[in-house]
Amino acid sequence: MKQWVQKLIEQLDYGFNGNPEKDHSKPKHEISEDRATLLYVIDLYNKHLFEIDTHPVRKVRAILDEFAKELVNPEADSEKVLFRLRQFFSHYRVDEYTYVRKTFEDFKGIIWDFVDQLAEDVRHEQIDDSEIASNLEALREAVQADSIEVLRAKSREFIDNYVEKQSRKDVRREKRIRGIKKNLDSVKKKLDEAYKSARQDHLTGAWNRKSFDEALKEQINLFTMSKVPVTIILLDIDHFKKINDGFGHDVGDFALKECVRMLHESFSREHDFVARIGGEEFAVLLPEHTVEHAIKRAEDTMAKIRKEVWLVQDKELRFTISMGIAQLQPGESGEQWLKRADQALYQSKHGGRNRYTVAADSKSLGQVA
Ligand code: GH3
Ligand code: MG
Ligand code: MG
Repeated sequence: MKQWVQKLIEQLDYGFNGNPEKDHSKPKHEISEDRATLLYVIDLYNKHLFEIDTHPVRKVRAILDEFAKELVNPEADSEKVLFRLRQFFSHYRVDEYTYVRKTFEDFKGIIWDFVDQLAEDVRHEQIDDSEIASNLEALREAVQADSIEVLRAKSREFIDNYVEKQSRKDVRREKRIRGIKKNLDSVKKKLDEAYKSARQDHLTGAWNRKSFDEALKEQINLFTMSKVPVTIILLDIDHFKKINDGFGHDVGDFALKECVRMLHESFSREHDFVARIGGEEFAVLLPEHTVEHAIKRAEDTMAKIRKEVWLVQDKELRFTISMGIAQLQPGESGEQWLKRADQALYQSKHGGRNRYTVAADSKSLGQVA
């Protein structure tokens, strides 16, 4: 027996003479080189089996082992064994080929769908990306080439390229979005400032006449719909002329600013609205306030202003204010509402100043603080 046959038999570790147990001893009989070659082929096949749906590895291995045992058994009918072996391999190879072919076709199908979808996306997003386009082309060619090796290499190359490109794009996009957001924020800030500046009184920071007119209209509309009470306080600094005359115009300006500062302190709730509507005249809109509620807050404000004293040019500066208070009446226009409040303010002035008057048509009249 040739040496390689001897070695093979030892390696294969099959039992001899019909003995199913493993037997490491030398074979007790000669095995032809033809049979040994077949044994070698079967062994090689056994080592590289893979799972096919119609032929589980476990089963095929058992069949091949059976053939191997028959081949080393000198009593086995050679012709019969070889016939069955040919039959088995011809069927198995056909199934194996069909399975590999189908898997390859499935794989090609997946790649093809992917290429199509991606090409569609590129067209849809109108991406002018020659790199992706040429990669796609290479992938298309690989699918048509019908070689699993080319397809494997090309799809790997494409996926690597694509992933890298996407991550570069994401970084760029993120940067661009951050830039846009920054610009938008600054534009928004400028617009906010412009909006405020168009509606604010530059000297005192109170709302100006224009925004007061809008707010008044808004309150009328809201009241028409909701009937929730809303009250206005008109107020005017008493003998303001004397401040200007006695201290100068700048101190007059200072007094106006101080007056607004105190009004903002008193009327600091979310919907309180303080506006400068004339030289030293102001209006406070108090949504969701009945006249009684507004009176309470008016009294607090007057007391606060009365108490305040400034030392200017070694002289004491102090001032008082007069008020007219009016709750919006059903069916009343903005003009009528304002007129009633103004008449009440006039009465406060006429009555000696430093006081408030509740407008006619409201519950109480002519209270003096
Ligand atoms: P009354 O108690 O009746 O309200 O008397 P008054 O002196 O406060 O009222 P009057 O309407 O006679 O005078 C208001 C003065 O306010 C006249 C005007 O020169 C002055 N004035 C108007 N706007 C400003 C301003 O922005 N700054 C300064 N310093 N003075 C102003
Ligand atoms: Mg005045
Ligand atoms: Mg005035």
